[in-house]
Amino acid sequence: MRYVMKFGGTSVGNGGVIRRVAELVRSYSEKGDEIVVVVSAMSGVTDQLETIAERLTSEYAELSEVAEFTQHIGQRHFDATYTAIDDEMVITEVLSEIEARLEELRNALTGIYYLGELTDRSYDYISSFGERLSAPVVAGALKSQKIQSVFLTGGEAGIITNSKHRGAHPIEITDRRIHDRLIPLLEVGVVPVVMGFIACNIHNIITTLGRGGSDFTASIIGSAIDSNAIWIWTDVNGIMTADPKLVPDARTLPEISYVEAMEISYFGAKVIHPKTIEPAVSKGIPVKVRNTFDPKGASTTIVDTVTGDSNLVKAVTAINNVSLITLSGAGMAGTIGIAGHVFSKLADAGVNIIMISQGSSESNISILVEEAHLSGALKALHELKGSVNGSVIKEVFCDEDVSAIAVVGSRMAGTPGIVGRIFGCMGKIRASVIMISQGSTEHNVSFVLKRDAVRRAVESLHAEFSLSQL
Ligand code: ADP
Ligand code: ASP
Ligand code: MG
Repeated sequence: MRYVMKFGGTSVGNGGVIRRVAELVRSYSEKGDEIVVVVSAMSGVTDQLETIAERLTSEYAELSEVAEFTQHIGQRHFDATYTAIDDEMVITEVLSEIEARLEELRNALTGIYYLGELTDRSYDYISSFGERLSAPVVAGALKSQKIQSVFLTGGEAGIITNSKHRGAHPIEITDRRIHDRLIPLLEVGVVPVVMGFIACNIHNIITTLGRGGSDFTASIIGSAIDSNAIWIWTDVNGIMTADPKLVPDARTLPEISYVEAMEISYFGAKVIHPKTIEPAVSKGIPVKVRNTFDPKGASTTIVDTVTGDSNLVKAVTAINNVSLITLSGAGMAGTIGIAGHVFSKLADAGVNIIMISQGSSESNISILVEEAHLSGALKALHELKGSVNGSVIKEVFCDEDVSAIAVVGSRMAGTPGIVGRIFGCMGKIRASVIMISQGSTEHNVSFVLKRDAVRRAVESLHAEFSLSQL
């Protein structure tokens, strides 16, 4: 069998876990399975890299912070190396690799400090260091357990993307390249350890697939090499009826459809990146979400069609890093083409729209966008306000203190009464609903409310649809 196994941040979070991950991979490799490993950065490292990069552009930053930061991040990887690897020669190799990466990181951060600015391209370069530091340790741990292994950047593994930094998408040549680069390694029994999340464009400049993108790396590779399955190893027992951090009695969903997984992830369940599903669907490859810390425990399999499942509602998800923009103007009513102008302007500004709603009076349009895209969206909309076609837009407001909730389940389609129960719950907990949207496929009902009501809302919906008793 051929598998792609992706290990997330917590699954490679320290040397002890990396050792266990290597043992797990060895157990499959010894059975004769061909395995490609995809790794994330150690937990928290990508966040720390982004934070220091932003911090260094501030006028209060000090150059000494660069050395302090690289020392701190370096120490964590050195410690992991000593704990995960027994073979002295391999330890030496891995340490010198880490040293080289730290030197590069130091130089890059120093550059940002002096320039005082951070472009999307440099953002990607800096945030790539998490995976560039973790992959050598994981490959070293495998070697130390007598498994032949090499580590590769996403680009070296064949993933070539467009140049849309911080959310790049693979271009067509990717599949062929991955196939040509990885299959020869698998054929001679080597386990490639590919750095998730990072890739490069045709000019060999580092790009990233967007935060949480290692899952996407795994499915791009799984599809390109026709793997039998893609396994996402994480820190929870699969995809659950709600985020277990919000609802402690959330339950594992043993099987869900590609469509449901896509809806659940799109609306906030970060357990799997929304783009993961598409490459898997194209080849009909099952995706399994498993717990590294409980490998024999409950897990989720994502397949084309789920059989023998009668639950209407599968999961309740929440997404916090969003902002709501409202456009209004009495003249908007009946003026043809306004929505078109708004959406093309936002598309040109690279804004990802999560939800849209327009009241029947047509004098306002509400748009939910990713928090990271808020300033770009506001800038674009303010420009539009003054233009001839957009001049009927009088006001642009934004509310950053909101969250979106989605109630997901493909069997909800055509079942009356669900929407009433959802909003009945919101009434009971006295949460005011700011915006509502339901796709015509009826696989989900989503709505926006104030952020402080999220936990109560998810808990009450979870109870209303008896999800803990699935
Ligand atoms: P990794 O580092 O392995 O990629 P992530 O932190 O990206 O892991 O995703 C796993 C986390 O997703 C879990 O710890 C959990 O808190 C969160 N999560 C949110 N919604 C769900 C859900 N419906 N089912 C399972 N986990 C969820
Ligand atoms: N390390 C990246 C992040 O934290 C990618 C990932 O974990 O999937 O976003
Ligand atoms: Mg993740």
